Amino acid sequence: MISIAIDGPAGAGKSSICRRLAEELHYLHVDTGAIYRAVGLYMLRRHKNPADPAEVLPLLPQVKIDLQFAEGEQRILLNGEDVSEAIRLPEASAAASAVSALPEVRAYLLEQQRSLARQYDVIMDGRDIGTVVLPHATIKIYLTAAPEERARRRWLQQRSKGIGESYEEVLAAVKKRDYDDSHRAAAPLCRAEDAWLCDSTHLDFEETVAAMLAYIRQKTGAPV
Ligand code: C5P
Repeated sequence: MISIAIDGPAGAGKSSICRRLAEELHYLHVDTGAIYRAVGLYMLRRHKNPADPAEVLPLLPQVKIDLQFAEGEQRILLNGEDVSEAIRLPEASAAASAVSALPEVRAYLLEQQRSLARQYDVIMDGRDIGTVVLPHATIKIYLTAAPEERARRRWLQQRSKGIGESYEEVLAAVKKRDYDDSHRAAAPLCRAEDAWLCDSTHLDFEETVAAMLAYIRQKTGAPV
């Protein structure tokens, strides 16, 4: 099985780029952030504080997550309910960030992620895929961009949806998540030593996809 691990900070475009790469390569795209989001959403719905291990851990065994794949697209089921849209709400982002800092939550989800990589050729994106989940991945890429550029992209995206946050607010949120993700004790965001650094600050979506495909094809020896 071939596994491609893609890590990087929030807003680097990992999910949309990985979806496209998976289509091109006919691999399964596993968006691991969605799994943390589903756990966070469950805690919110049960009125639990997602940052408090005493509230979260007793409920973990009740959380059953299933991933379904239709034409390479991931749908996520939380105890049988499709929550693929609900997990994108801002409350779910914040709850995901909180539960993902708990080592017991990470341990609980680890085997599920590894088992997918044993069964399928995968492109798996997250924060700790190349460092913890799949340390022996065939290919590792760390996809990033300057915080100002990631904030600009997110701000434009939000504006097109009519969400009225200012650029400064979006930038502050991006910087806070970078800080939280890279300073937590459990599996902090960091580039694996053997990961190729792809900086998309000055690349658009298509250019980033092309650069990553070229690297993957060169490494796997697949025809361009
Ligand atoms: O990538 P996304 O924004 O959907 O991730 C949601 C949250 O889950 C992030 O705050 C991140 O800290 C966490 N996460 C993680 N490990 C992963 C994927 C996501 O800690 N492999």
